[in-house]
Amino acid sequence: MNIVLLGGPGSGKGTQAKTLSEMLHVPHVASGDLFREHLKNQTSLGETAQAYINRGELVPDQVTIGMVRERLGLPDCQAGVILDGFPRTVPQAEALEGMLSELGRRLDVVAYIEVSLETLLKRLSGRLICAQCGFVYNLYFGPPKIAGRCDACGGSLEQRQDDRPEIQRHRIEVYWEQTVPLIDYYQRLGKLTRIDGEQDIAGVQGQLLTAIRAAGRRTRRKGSKS
Ligand code: ADP
Ligand code: AMP
Repeated sequence: MNIVLLGGPGSGKGTQAKTLSEMLHVPHVASGDLFREHLKNQTSLGETAQAYINRGELVPDQVTIGMVRERLGLPDCQAGVILDGFPRTVPQAEALEGMLSELGRRLDVVAYIEVSLETLLKRLSGRLICAQCGFVYNLYFGPPKIAGRCDACGGSLEQRQDDRPEIQRHRIEVYWEQTVPLIDYYQRLGKLTRIDGEQDIAGVQGQLLTAIRAAGRRTRRKGSKS
């Protein structure tokens, strides 16, 4: 299965992708995580991306597409992939079609996690991440047992630099300008499934699984006809 999770920053893409990846045994590829990995390793790509990320802007398409292309070419993506945060622009979506078709594959489902602006802001404001194991908490919706400490490993919890209020707002504006057009793009291709992202984590997961299973059945039917 090749799945794209589409939605605003803080809509819950990463939370859902992590569980789906474990359940479906396909890798979770998050462009934001790939950039953060480059930043941590101080690569030249990381250096290029840093200024954009810190300002809450999108990293240029050429850089982002090259990075994702490389990741999708690795052997673990052969059985499928759950893309989180990519594509974020129409040129990225077009490039993705090209990459997948070069690999003899295509997108099975684009799940759009629909969340109101109010919810996006609350989820972003409350997001805390364990500096040690990466587990994601939320002050309002899933707080740790001890403030500032990870339940799983005791690591310290941090706010993402780009989750600070002044950057948060800008990221949402950028999402409206550059990513929202993808909803129409995928709708026209007949690939879009809308998911009610206002539900709790388990509710969103249930709806996503139903959509993915339905897409899997459609793909198998098409495959058996050709
Ligand atoms: P994204 O990857 O789309 O930016 P995340 O998955 O990191 O978003 O979720 C943003 C924040 O909201 C995190 O703190 C996460 O724990 C929380 N969260 C995710 N999904 C839900 C949900 N359905 N209900 C409440 N909180 C959620
Ligand atoms: P995320 O972790 O998905 O919220 O992404 C964090 C930041 O990384 C974004 O605000 C962008 O600066 C950058 N980024 C992630 N994915 C993309 C993408 N597909 N295109 C451009 N920039 C991206």
